[in-house]
Amino acid sequence: MGTITVPIILEKLKEGYDQLEKFDVIVVGGGLAGLAAAYTLAQHDLEVLVLERGDYCGAKNLTGGRLYINPIRNLFPDLWQKAPLERPIVREGVMIMAAEGSLAINYTGADLASEPYQSYSVLRAKFDRWFAREVERQGAAIVTKTRVSDVIIQDGQVCGVRADGEELRADVVIACDGVLSLIAEKAGLRKPGNAKDYAVGVKEVIELEAGLIEERFGLEGNEGAACLFMGAVTKGIFGGGFLYTNQNSLSLGIVVGISDLIASESAVSIPALLEEFKQRPEIARLIKDGTSVEYGAHVIPEGGAAALTRLYGPGILVAGDAAGFAMNIGITVRGMEYAMASGYYAAQAVLKAREKNDYSVQALSSYEALLKESFVMKDFLNFKNAPLALSNPRLYSHYPELINDIMADLYSVPAGQKERLYPTIRKYLNWREMLAMAGDMRKVMKL
Ligand SMILES: Cc1cc2nc3c(=O)[nH]c(=O)nc-3n(C[C@H](O)[C@H](O)[C@H](O)COP(=O)(O)OP(=O)(O)OC[C@H]3O[C@@H](n4cnc5c(N)ncnc54)[C@H](O)[C@@H]3O)c2cc1C
Repeated sequence: MGTITVPIILEKLKEGYDQLEKFDVIVVGGGLAGLAAAYTLAQHDLEVLVLERGDYCGAKNLTGGRLYINPIRNLFPDLWQKAPLERPIVREGVMIMAAEGSLAINYTGADLASEPYQSYSVLRAKFDRWFAREVERQGAAIVTKTRVSDVIIQDGQVCGVRADGEELRADVVIACDGVLSLIAEKAGLRKPGNAKDYAVGVKEVIELEAGLIEERFGLEGNEGAACLFMGAVTKGIFGGGFLYTNQNSLSLGIVVGISDLIASESAVSIPALLEEFKQRPEIARLIKDGTSVEYGAHVIPEGGAAALTRLYGPGILVAGDAAGFAMNIGITVRGMEYAMASGYYAAQAVLKAREKNDYSVQALSSYEALLKESFVMKDFLNFKNAPLALSNPRLYSHYPELINDIMADLYSVPAGQKERLYPTIRKYLNWREMLAMAGDMRKVMKL
């Protein structure tokens, strides 16, 4: 290994590792996928180096803010008791927004409101930073403020990375460098992305007293609520809004499909959409007197199974957003538990390969087999039609307006005679409308 100029790396190496020639594993990216992989490998006493370009783990990571625990509870049994989770989500909401009104649907039930809770709101700056400390406690080295620029390929096999002009070698590299993975691209596993497979999100964290959060959302104690928004929130473009309650803050944001954004006739600015969203009366009263403490934007892979990268190559595995493991099915947006699970299974594949000291493409193919047996690939195959079903523009413009028009008419009490309810609805659902609905329904039925 050449002289390492990054002082912090030197320090880490001197502190923790006697064998400086090579690491067992280098993980690129200290987000949830990378930390999950490193945590699992370090538990088995492998020498693991995580390289993260941010000032600390969590500094560059953005999520809407809701982590579903059930699928990954047993993969990391030691984590959940002490994890800095915000609030368990005990109430689900969907709001269909039209220009002049909105229809809200809320669901709560014993399945959501009792332990073990299905999901929690999380703040990544806090959660990832804590997770990184747990990873270090297991014995892995995490070096921040270090950007990996390339992979080292020798005799067709990835055998390390280049960072800050230096070469760092390992038996295997795990690319967990997020949605636009340079590392997977450099290793020839990923082609430059297609706009239709990505969405872009902006999010604000708004600090608000815990008591006010509980009062405004009708919550008891530490209970939390989640709400997704569709329709006018994105000006009819594919996407939606989200709102999650944290302990002392709200996570509020908007996600919009990139290709629809490009194709949209009117120039839409996403920060402007978020501002307008905040000014809607439905939202303004919830965030009133709050202070904006965090603002960020990030790309999300939403292309589903068809847009996944190749998951492994000689000496390299790809996990988390880097592989495309995030999924929007309209009522849930999930990526964090896929990131953690794929990091875990990548680590399992490395452990298996290590038994024979063989990191060839054949040896590492067990990663894909493990993912196929797990909820990760089962979900991706089950929801392979989600991107197509959700790409219908009528879902974001026509139906929100139609539904709200019907509601306005049903609830209006005119000065004169009120029309019967069925003819009121029927007026909107003429044959042409019904026919179009049947066509749309056929697509939605694929979800
Ligand atoms: C607006 C929005 C809302 C979302 N809502 C939800 C939600 O509510 N629930 C949910 O489960 N998922 C949600 N997601 C998806 C979820 O956040 C991601 O799927 C998840 O964060 C992926 O984790 P990761 O570890 O794969 O990637 P990341 O968290 O992006 O981590 C990648 C890491 O790699 C580092 N890195 C990148 N390049 C390099 C390099 N060259 N060298 C060194 N380090 C590098 C980055 O700094 C980063 O820390 C949302 C995403 C967005 C953007």
